[in-house]
Order: sequence, then C-alpha cells, then structure tokens
Amino acid sequence: MSCDERTRESAIDAAISKYSAVKKGYMPDDFIELFINSSTPHPKKMPLINRGTYARQHCIQTLLNQVHTLTSTTNTQIILLGAGIDSLALNIKQSSPLSTIYEIDFPDTIDHKLRYLRNGLDKLQAIWPNDTLTSTSYGSIHFIPADLRDAPRFLAALQSSGCSPSVPTVIISECVLVYLPKTATLSLCTALGEYFTEALWVSYDMFSPADRFGVIMQQNIASQGYSVPGFHDFPTLLTQEERFISSGWSIAKALSMMTAFYAMVTREEQRRVSRLEMMDEVEEWHMLMSHYCLTVALKGTLFASVVDTFGSSVEADKV
Ligand code: SAH
Repeated sequence: MSCDERTRESAIDAAISKYSAVKKGYMPDDFIELFINSSTPHPKKMPLINRGTYARQHCIQTLLNQVHTLTSTTNTQIILLGAGIDSLALNIKQSSPLSTIYEIDFPDTIDHKLRYLRNGLDKLQAIWPNDTLTSTSYGSIHFIPADLRDAPRFLAALQSSGCSPSVPTVIISECVLVYLPKTATLSLCTALGEYFTEALWVSYDMFSPADRFGVIMQQNIASQGYSVPGFHDFPTLLTQEERFISSGWSIAKALSMMTAFYAMVTREEQRRVSRLEMMDEVEEWHMLMSHYCLTVALKGTLFASVVDTFGSSVEADKV
C-alpha cells in the first residue's frame, strides 16, 4: 500500500474512533454511524483514545459555537480540509443552516464518502427532505476532490465551486497538515490567507516528536506505513504558530491538548467524562494529550475575540 493510500485509510480509523467515543457516551453525534461499515468489525477503542477523541471534538465544537455566536445572522463558509469520512459537515449543516460547507479530500475518499451518504439517504431525507445528493453536493455541503499539496489547483476548484473570498470563513484541518510536506503546507496557508478577508483557521495536529513518547509515536506511525513530515517540520507550539504567521496570517495561538482540555472543558464535564469508563493509563493519556495541539489563526478582525479568548479557563469565565 502506498503512503497516499495509507493516508486515506487514516480517515477510516478516525471515523471508528469517533464512533467508539460516541457509543461510550462521551458525546452525541447523530451521523457518525452512517460512516461505519456494519459488515466489518469496528473495534472499541481504548479509554485513553476515546477520551482524546472527545477532547478534540469538544474543543473544536466550543470554537465553532463561538463562531456561530459571532455570525448567527450572516452567511458563513466552513472549509473542512482533509475531511475524510467524518460526520462534522453533517453536524454543522444541522446546527448552522446559514453555513455553506466545503469538504476537501482525495477523489477516492470523496467517492467513498458519497457511497456512505447514498446508503444513509433514508435517514438524511427524514431530516432534510428537500436536499438531493449529487456527486458534487448535498444541500449546503460541497464536495471538492483535490490534492492539498497543489494549492493553486485546489484554490481554483474551491473558487469554481462558489466559495467567496468576502464571506466570513472558518477553515478546519484535523490531523491533515501533518501529512503534507513543509513547502506544500506553507503554500496552502499562504494561498488561503491571501484569498479570504475574514477567516479563522482551526488546526489539530500532532507535535513534539523528539522526546521519549514522541519517538514511540514515530515508531508506531512508521510501522503502520504512514508518512507524517509535518510532525518533524513543525515540532513545537511556536513552530505551529509560525506556520501561519510566516504565511501572512496576523495572529496565531497554539495550545497543547493537555492545556486546551483543562481550559475548555468545565470541571463538571471533566467529572462526567471521567466516570464513563475506568482509565488505568492516566499517565499515558497525559503524554498523548501533550503530543497533540490545537492552533487558531486569524485573518481580518471578525473572529479576533475567538483567538483572544482561546485557552481562557471556562471556570474563570463563569466568575
Ligand atoms: N479530518 C478527518 C480525517 C482525518 S484523516 C477526521 O478528523 O476524521 C486525514 C485525511 O486527510 C484523510 O482523509 C486524507 O485522505 C486527507 N489528506 C491527507 N493528505 C491529503 C492531501 N494531500 N490532499 C487531500 N486530502 C488529504
């Protein structure tokens, strides 16, 4: 299997992880089971993976809620880079009817997703009776097959599918930039930064490859046949931020998931989650959370408050 094929497979694993966390009660998600092949076994994930998946979803959803508050009466564009077979687009479609969503991935992955959507049409039609699924869209969701390593061609495809430079836009990349070579990442960040006037980029990535746990992660990744140049090219929170600043974004802030989790999840919610299943590997969970980070980057001023308050404690906010 080539590296690109392996990269595409990672989308299946991400969907299984989300499904596992949803089934355990970490978070609700009405759509993820559409993307799980019922004829293949879908193993339950370890508690630390379930909790990590929850942390990622919760923190990104919190940022999206803030965006929604700022744009509740205006059109917004949400661009999901390397969207895989995730359910996020459908969840956004349900919660923010004014959003237009663009899902970008390799052509094979988009085809794969369309097959799942076709199989789930009964359920979808009960929610959105007027939407038709075509090979390029489903209501407000547009599917763009593209290779993100070719930024000019990707941008041309985005533009021709109607994505406007003057509409406030949120770009989300979850476990995606890590697969791109450094020059491709910087071209992509530059191209999107130059295109939009008002934009927020939310990126979830692995980082810190050089310490003991990072080296173990590298060995696991290599043994599974993945190539993740971004893990080495952007190894610290500072380099994660510089990735955006050096490509024309005005502010960028990166937090480890360890910091983000304790800042963005209320104590009450932390207690609820910790009761869901026994987790013996607390230290390993902390290590894992210290090797993933969330970065927000700003273009324009509309989303400045989201970046300003990123990482402020939710408990402190209530006082
Ligand atoms: N964001 C999704 C999927 C993560 S897996 C989630 O969190 O569930 C990484 C995804 O990035 C895969 O779907 C893979 O196909 C996509 N990807 C990686 N490199 C890409 C590239 N060069 N062009 C387009 N998509 C890419």
